[in-house]
Amino acid sequence: KPKGRLTAQEYIDGILRGDRVILSRGITIVESSLESDKKLAKEIIQAILPHSGNSIRIGITGVPGVGKSTFIEAFGKYLISKGHKVGILSIDPSSQRSKGSILGDKTRMEELANMEDAYIRPSATGDTLGGVANKTGESMLLCEAAGYDVILIETVGVGQSETAVHGMTDFFLLLMLSGAGDELQGIKKGIMEMADMVVINKADGDNVKRSEMAKRQYQNALHIFPLSDSGWSPVVSTASAIKNIGIDTVWDEITKYKKLVDENGYFLANRNQQQIQWMYNNINEELKRLFYGSKNIADHLAILEKDIVSSKISPVKAAELIIDEFKKSL
Ligand code: GDP
Repeated sequence: KPKGRLTAQEYIDGILRGDRVILSRGITIVESSLESDKKLAKEIIQAILPHSGNSIRIGITGVPGVGKSTFIEAFGKYLISKGHKVGILSIDPSSQRSKGSILGDKTRMEELANMEDAYIRPSATGDTLGGVANKTGESMLLCEAAGYDVILIETVGVGQSETAVHGMTDFFLLLMLSGAGDELQGIKKGIMEMADMVVINKADGDNVKRSEMAKRQYQNALHIFPLSDSGWSPVVSTASAIKNIGIDTVWDEITKYKKLVDENGYFLANRNQQQIQWMYNNINEELKRLFYGSKNIADHLAILEKDIVSSKISPVKAAELIIDEFKKSL
Protein backbone atom coordinates (compact mmCIF):
# COMPACT_ATOMS: atom_id res chain seq x y z
CA LYS A 1 0.00 0.00 0.00
CA PRO A 2 1.75 3.20 -1.19
CA LYS A 3 2.11 5.88 1.47
CA GLY A 4 -0.95 8.07 1.91
CA ARG A 5 -3.15 5.77 -0.06
CA LEU A 6 -6.20 4.19 1.45
CA THR A 7 -7.18 0.57 1.12
CA ALA A 8 -10.41 -0.35 -0.65
CA GLN A 9 -11.97 -1.07 2.73
CA GLU A 10 -10.97 2.34 4.06
CA TYR A 11 -12.63 3.99 1.08
CA ILE A 12 -15.74 1.88 1.50
CA ASP A 13 -16.08 2.53 5.23
CA GLY A 14 -15.39 6.23 4.81
CA ILE A 15 -17.96 6.64 2.06
CA LEU A 16 -20.59 4.69 3.95
CA ARG A 17 -20.20 6.85 7.03
CA GLY A 18 -20.55 9.97 4.87
CA ASP A 19 -16.98 11.22 5.19
CA ARG A 20 -16.81 13.93 2.54
CA VAL A 21 -13.03 13.92 2.25
CA ILE A 22 -13.00 10.20 1.56
CA LEU A 23 -15.97 10.55 -0.79
CA SER A 24 -13.97 13.11 -2.78
CA ARG A 25 -10.93 10.89 -2.85
CA GLY A 26 -13.12 7.96 -3.88
CA ILE A 27 -14.52 9.94 -6.79
CA THR A 28 -10.98 10.84 -7.81
CA ILE A 29 -10.23 7.11 -7.95
CA VAL A 30 -13.38 6.52 -10.01
CA GLU A 31 -12.32 9.26 -12.41
CA SER A 32 -8.73 8.11 -12.71
CA SER A 33 -7.51 6.37 -15.84
CA LEU A 34 -4.61 4.59 -14.08
CA GLU A 35 -5.01 0.82 -14.26
CA SER A 36 -4.36 0.37 -10.53
CA ASP A 37 -7.02 2.98 -9.72
CA LYS A 38 -9.49 1.34 -12.09
CA LYS A 39 -9.11 -1.91 -10.23
CA LEU A 40 -9.57 -0.17 -6.89
CA ALA A 41 -12.59 1.72 -8.24
CA LYS A 42 -14.30 -1.51 -9.29
CA GLU A 43 -13.79 -2.91 -5.83
CA ILE A 44 -15.23 0.20 -4.18
CA ILE A 45 -18.23 0.38 -6.53
CA GLN A 46 -19.01 -3.30 -6.07
CA ALA A 47 -19.05 -2.89 -2.30
CA ILE A 48 -21.09 0.30 -2.12
CA LEU A 49 -23.58 -0.75 -4.82
CA PRO A 50 -26.11 -2.25 -2.38
CA HIS A 51 -26.05 1.05 -0.45
CA SER A 52 -26.67 3.20 -3.52
CA GLY A 53 -29.91 4.12 -5.26
CA ASN A 54 -31.78 5.63 -2.30
CA SER A 55 -32.20 8.99 -3.92
CA ILE A 56 -34.11 10.95 -6.45
CA ARG A 57 -31.85 11.71 -9.41
CA ILE A 58 -32.68 14.95 -11.15
CA GLY A 59 -31.19 16.03 -14.48
CA ILE A 60 -30.98 19.78 -15.03
CA THR A 61 -30.21 21.36 -18.37
CA GLY A 62 -30.50 24.65 -20.21
CA VAL A 63 -28.39 26.86 -22.43
CA PRO A 64 -25.45 28.76 -20.89
CA GLY A 65 -26.72 31.87 -19.13
CA VAL A 66 -30.20 30.53 -18.42
CA GLY A 67 -29.32 30.48 -14.73
CA LYS A 68 -28.48 26.85 -13.97
CA SER A 69 -25.94 27.55 -11.26
CA THR A 70 -28.08 30.26 -9.70
CA PHE A 71 -31.05 27.90 -9.77
CA ILE A 72 -29.10 24.99 -8.32
CA GLU A 73 -27.79 27.21 -5.54
CA ALA A 74 -31.36 28.29 -4.62
CA PHE A 75 -32.83 24.83 -5.12
CA GLY A 76 -30.04 23.14 -3.18
CA LYS A 77 -30.45 25.49 -0.23
CA TYR A 78 -34.20 24.92 -0.29
CA LEU A 79 -33.73 21.15 -0.26
CA ILE A 80 -31.27 21.36 2.62
CA SER A 81 -33.76 23.48 4.58
CA LYS A 82 -36.18 20.57 4.10
CA GLY A 83 -33.68 18.16 5.61
CA HIS A 84 -32.19 16.71 2.46
CA LYS A 85 -28.59 16.08 1.57
CA VAL A 86 -27.81 17.23 -1.94
CA GLY A 87 -25.12 15.92 -4.26
CA ILE A 88 -24.36 17.97 -7.36
CA LEU A 89 -22.51 16.54 -10.32
CA SER A 90 -22.21 17.70 -13.87
CA ILE A 91 -21.61 16.37 -17.33
CA ASP A 92 -19.79 18.97 -19.30
CA PRO A 93 -19.28 18.08 -22.95
CA SER A 94 -16.78 20.88 -23.45
CA SER A 95 -14.45 19.34 -20.89
CA GLN A 96 -13.76 16.51 -23.32
CA ARG A 97 -11.79 18.85 -25.51
CA SER A 98 -10.44 21.50 -23.21
CA LYS A 99 -9.83 19.18 -20.24
CA GLY A 100 -11.14 22.09 -18.26
CA SER A 101 -14.64 22.47 -17.09
CA ILE A 102 -17.02 25.35 -17.48
CA LEU A 103 -19.51 23.81 -15.09
CA GLY A 104 -17.05 22.96 -12.36
CA ASP A 105 -15.79 26.46 -11.86
CA LYS A 106 -15.18 27.02 -8.15
CA THR A 107 -16.84 30.40 -7.88
CA ARG A 108 -20.21 28.93 -8.80
CA MET A 109 -22.70 28.10 -6.05
CA GLU A 110 -20.41 29.50 -3.41
CA GLU A 111 -22.87 29.50 -0.51
CA LEU A 112 -24.15 26.05 -1.27
CA ALA A 113 -20.61 24.73 -1.62
CA ASN A 114 -19.92 25.70 1.97
CA MET A 115 -22.91 23.91 3.40
CA GLU A 116 -22.42 20.70 5.32
CA ASP A 117 -25.28 18.92 3.55
CA ALA A 118 -24.23 19.80 0.02
CA TYR A 119 -21.59 18.04 -1.98
CA ILE A 120 -20.55 19.68 -5.24
CA ARG A 121 -18.19 17.93 -7.60
CA PRO A 122 -16.82 19.65 -10.70
CA SER A 123 -17.42 17.62 -13.82
CA ALA A 124 -15.21 14.75 -14.85
CA THR A 125 -13.12 14.94 -17.97
CA GLY A 126 -12.50 12.25 -20.53
CA ASP A 127 -11.99 11.49 -24.19
CA THR A 128 -15.50 10.30 -24.89
CA LEU A 129 -18.93 11.30 -23.68
CA GLY A 130 -19.39 7.65 -22.73
CA GLY A 131 -16.32 7.79 -20.53
CA VAL A 132 -17.45 11.00 -18.85
CA ALA A 133 -20.94 9.53 -18.35
CA ASN A 134 -19.46 6.42 -16.73
CA LYS A 135 -17.49 8.52 -14.28
CA THR A 136 -20.48 10.71 -13.44
CA GLY A 137 -22.73 7.68 -13.08
CA GLU A 138 -20.31 5.97 -10.72
CA SER A 139 -19.69 9.17 -8.77
CA MET A 140 -23.45 9.39 -8.32
CA LEU A 141 -23.49 5.91 -6.79
CA LEU A 142 -20.75 6.94 -4.38
CA CYS A 143 -22.69 10.07 -3.37
CA GLU A 144 -25.79 8.00 -2.73
CA ALA A 145 -23.86 5.53 -0.63
CA ALA A 146 -22.55 8.50 1.37
CA GLY A 147 -26.13 9.49 2.19
CA TYR A 148 -26.98 12.14 -0.39
CA ASP A 149 -30.66 11.60 -1.13
CA VAL A 150 -31.14 14.21 -3.84
CA ILE A 151 -28.70 14.07 -6.73
CA LEU A 152 -28.63 16.91 -9.23
CA ILE A 153 -26.85 16.23 -12.49
CA GLU A 154 -26.33 19.33 -14.50
CA THR A 155 -25.41 19.72 -18.14
CA VAL A 156 -25.27 22.47 -20.72
CA GLY A 157 -28.20 22.25 -23.10
CA VAL A 158 -26.21 22.14 -26.28
CA GLY A 159 -25.63 18.59 -27.38
CA GLN A 160 -25.71 14.87 -26.81
CA SER A 161 -24.88 15.16 -23.16
CA GLU A 162 -28.58 15.66 -22.37
CA THR A 163 -29.29 12.16 -23.57
CA ALA A 164 -26.56 10.86 -21.29
CA VAL A 165 -27.99 12.77 -18.32
CA HIS A 166 -31.54 11.71 -19.18
CA GLY A 167 -30.28 8.13 -19.24
CA MET A 168 -29.07 8.29 -15.66
CA THR A 169 -31.75 10.34 -13.93
CA ASP A 170 -35.34 9.89 -12.74
CA PHE A 171 -36.61 13.37 -13.51
CA PHE A 172 -35.47 15.75 -16.22
CA LEU A 173 -35.73 19.47 -15.69
CA LEU A 174 -35.27 21.96 -18.50
CA LEU A 175 -34.56 25.59 -17.68
CA MET A 176 -35.64 28.10 -20.30
CA LEU A 177 -35.98 31.84 -20.69
CA SER A 178 -38.85 33.84 -22.00
CA GLY A 179 -37.81 35.65 -25.11
CA ALA A 180 -39.28 37.74 -27.82
CA GLY A 181 -40.13 35.86 -30.99
CA ASP A 182 -39.83 32.15 -31.29
CA GLU A 183 -40.10 30.77 -27.78
CA LEU A 184 -38.76 27.41 -28.77
CA GLN A 185 -35.53 28.60 -30.26
CA GLY A 186 -32.20 27.42 -28.99
CA ILE A 187 -33.36 24.16 -27.51
CA LYS A 188 -33.79 21.16 -29.73
CA LYS A 189 -37.16 19.50 -29.92
CA GLY A 190 -35.62 16.24 -28.74
CA ILE A 191 -34.57 17.88 -25.50
CA MET A 192 -38.02 19.39 -24.97
CA GLU A 193 -39.43 15.93 -25.45
CA MET A 194 -37.29 14.52 -22.64
CA ALA A 195 -38.39 17.18 -20.13
CA ASP A 196 -40.62 16.23 -17.21
CA MET A 197 -40.71 19.86 -16.26
CA VAL A 198 -39.87 23.13 -17.93
CA VAL A 199 -39.00 26.06 -15.70
CA ILE A 200 -39.02 29.53 -17.20
CA ASN A 201 -36.30 31.19 -15.16
CA LYS A 202 -35.68 34.90 -14.61
CA ALA A 203 -39.40 35.54 -14.14
CA ASP A 204 -38.73 38.72 -12.19
CA GLY A 205 -38.93 42.48 -12.73
CA ASP A 206 -39.96 43.44 -16.24
CA ASN A 207 -39.85 39.83 -17.24
CA VAL A 208 -42.79 38.52 -15.23
CA LYS A 209 -45.47 39.07 -17.85
CA ARG A 210 -43.40 37.69 -20.68
CA SER A 211 -42.52 34.67 -18.59
CA GLU A 212 -46.21 33.94 -17.96
CA MET A 213 -46.81 34.14 -21.71
CA ALA A 214 -43.89 31.84 -22.39
CA LYS A 215 -45.26 29.44 -19.81
CA ARG A 216 -48.54 29.17 -21.69
CA GLN A 217 -46.73 28.70 -24.98
CA TYR A 218 -44.61 25.89 -23.60
CA GLN A 219 -47.65 24.27 -22.05
CA ASN A 220 -49.23 24.19 -25.48
CA ALA A 221 -46.04 22.98 -27.12
CA LEU A 222 -45.65 20.12 -24.65
CA HIS A 223 -49.20 18.96 -25.21
CA ILE A 224 -48.41 17.83 -28.70
CA PHE A 225 -45.89 15.25 -27.49
CA PRO A 226 -47.18 11.76 -26.81
CA LEU A 227 -47.66 10.87 -23.15
CA SER A 228 -44.46 9.40 -21.71
CA ASP A 229 -44.29 5.82 -20.39
CA SER A 230 -44.11 7.31 -16.91
CA GLY A 231 -47.73 8.40 -17.17
CA TRP A 232 -46.63 11.89 -16.17
CA SER A 233 -47.66 14.95 -18.16
CA PRO A 234 -44.80 17.45 -18.23
CA VAL A 235 -45.46 20.65 -16.33
CA VAL A 236 -44.33 24.21 -16.94
CA SER A 237 -43.71 26.80 -14.26
CA THR A 238 -41.99 30.13 -13.83
CA ALA A 239 -39.25 30.89 -11.34
CA SER A 240 -36.73 33.46 -10.32
CA ALA A 241 -33.62 31.72 -9.11
CA ILE A 242 -32.10 35.00 -8.04
CA LYS A 243 -35.16 36.13 -6.06
CA ASN A 244 -35.93 32.67 -4.76
CA ILE A 245 -39.41 32.58 -6.30
CA GLY A 246 -41.01 29.38 -7.56
CA ILE A 247 -38.28 27.13 -6.20
CA ASP A 248 -40.71 25.32 -3.90
CA THR A 249 -43.03 24.66 -6.86
CA VAL A 250 -40.28 22.73 -8.58
CA TRP A 251 -39.81 20.45 -5.59
CA ASP A 252 -43.58 20.05 -5.15
CA GLU A 253 -43.86 18.82 -8.74
CA ILE A 254 -40.93 16.45 -8.34
CA THR A 255 -42.54 15.07 -5.19
CA LYS A 256 -45.81 14.52 -7.09
CA TYR A 257 -43.91 12.84 -9.88
CA LYS A 258 -42.10 10.54 -7.47
CA LYS A 259 -45.37 9.50 -5.85
CA LEU A 260 -46.94 8.74 -9.22
CA VAL A 261 -44.04 6.68 -10.57
CA ASP A 262 -43.56 4.81 -7.29
CA GLU A 263 -47.19 3.80 -7.39
CA ASN A 264 -47.37 2.84 -11.05
CA GLY A 265 -44.08 0.97 -11.01
CA TYR A 266 -42.35 3.19 -13.53
CA PHE A 267 -39.68 4.43 -11.13
CA LEU A 268 -38.18 1.00 -10.59
CA ALA A 269 -38.77 -0.20 -14.15
CA ASN A 270 -36.98 2.87 -15.51
CA ARG A 271 -34.05 2.49 -13.10
CA ASN A 272 -33.68 -1.16 -14.11
CA GLN A 273 -33.81 -0.28 -17.78
CA GLN A 274 -31.20 2.42 -17.26
CA GLN A 275 -28.85 -0.03 -15.57
CA ILE A 276 -29.18 -2.47 -18.45
CA GLN A 277 -28.70 0.28 -20.99
CA TRP A 278 -25.61 1.43 -19.10
CA MET A 279 -24.11 -2.00 -19.64
CA TYR A 280 -24.92 -1.99 -23.35
CA ASN A 281 -23.44 1.48 -23.79
CA ASN A 282 -20.20 0.14 -22.37
CA ILE A 283 -20.28 -2.97 -24.51
CA ASN A 284 -20.79 -0.82 -27.60
CA GLU A 285 -17.93 1.48 -26.71
CA GLU A 286 -15.56 -1.33 -25.84
CA LEU A 287 -16.38 -3.17 -29.07
CA LYS A 288 -15.66 -0.05 -31.08
CA ARG A 289 -12.43 0.47 -29.20
CA LEU A 290 -11.32 -3.12 -29.84
CA PHE A 291 -12.29 -2.95 -33.48
CA TYR A 292 -10.80 0.39 -34.45
CA GLY A 293 -7.86 -0.08 -32.12
CA SER A 294 -6.68 -3.13 -34.05
CA LYS A 295 -3.69 -2.56 -36.34
CA ASN A 296 -4.86 -5.30 -38.70
CA ILE A 297 -8.30 -3.72 -39.03
CA ALA A 298 -6.82 -0.27 -39.57
CA ASP A 299 -4.59 -1.59 -42.37
CA HIS A 300 -7.49 -3.35 -44.08
CA LEU A 301 -9.70 -0.29 -43.74
CA ALA A 302 -7.11 1.88 -45.46
CA ILE A 303 -7.12 -0.47 -48.46
CA LEU A 304 -10.90 -0.76 -48.51
CA GLU A 305 -11.30 3.02 -48.51
CA LYS A 306 -9.20 3.21 -51.67
CA ASP A 307 -11.17 0.38 -53.27
CA ILE A 308 -14.44 2.16 -52.52
CA VAL A 309 -13.21 5.42 -54.05
CA SER A 310 -12.03 3.65 -57.20
CA SER A 311 -15.36 1.79 -57.42
CA LYS A 312 -13.69 -1.59 -57.05
CA ILE A 313 -15.99 -2.50 -54.23
CA SER A 314 -19.30 -1.32 -52.86
CA PRO A 315 -19.45 0.22 -49.36
CA VAL A 316 -21.78 -2.54 -48.22
CA LYS A 317 -19.44 -5.27 -49.47
CA ALA A 318 -16.47 -3.49 -47.90
CA ALA A 319 -18.22 -3.40 -44.52
CA GLU A 320 -18.98 -7.11 -44.82
CA LEU A 321 -15.35 -7.92 -45.63
CA ILE A 322 -13.95 -5.95 -42.72
CA ILE A 323 -16.38 -7.57 -40.30
CA ASP A 324 -15.34 -10.99 -41.65
CA GLU A 325 -11.74 -9.99 -41.01
CA PHE A 326 -12.66 -9.00 -37.45
CA LYS A 327 -14.47 -12.29 -36.86
CA LYS A 328 -11.26 -14.19 -37.69
CA SER A 329 -9.67 -12.58 -34.67
CA LEU A 330 -12.43 -13.75 -32.32
P1 GDP B 1 -25.74 29.21 -16.17
O1 GDP B 1 -24.73 29.55 -17.22
O2 GDP B 1 -26.93 28.57 -16.77
O3 GDP B 1 -25.17 28.45 -15.02
O4 GDP B 1 -26.28 30.62 -15.61
P2 GDP B 1 -25.89 31.43 -14.28
O5 GDP B 1 -26.54 30.84 -13.09
O6 GDP B 1 -24.41 31.62 -14.25
O7 GDP B 1 -26.62 32.81 -14.56
C1 GDP B 1 -26.32 33.64 -15.66
C2 GDP B 1 -26.68 35.07 -15.33
O8 GDP B 1 -28.09 35.18 -15.13
C3 GDP B 1 -26.04 35.56 -14.05
O9 GDP B 1 -25.66 36.88 -14.22
C4 GDP B 1 -27.15 35.45 -13.02
O10 GDP B 1 -27.02 36.37 -11.98
C5 GDP B 1 -28.38 35.74 -13.85
N1 GDP B 1 -29.58 35.08 -13.32
C6 GDP B 1 -29.70 33.78 -12.94
N2 GDP B 1 -30.94 33.53 -12.49
C7 GDP B 1 -31.63 34.70 -12.57
C8 GDP B 1 -32.98 35.08 -12.25
O11 GDP B 1 -33.80 34.30 -11.77
N3 GDP B 1 -33.33 36.37 -12.52
C9 GDP B 1 -32.46 37.27 -13.05
N4 GDP B 1 -32.89 38.49 -13.28
N5 GDP B 1 -31.18 36.94 -13.35
C10 GDP B 1 -30.77 35.68 -13.12
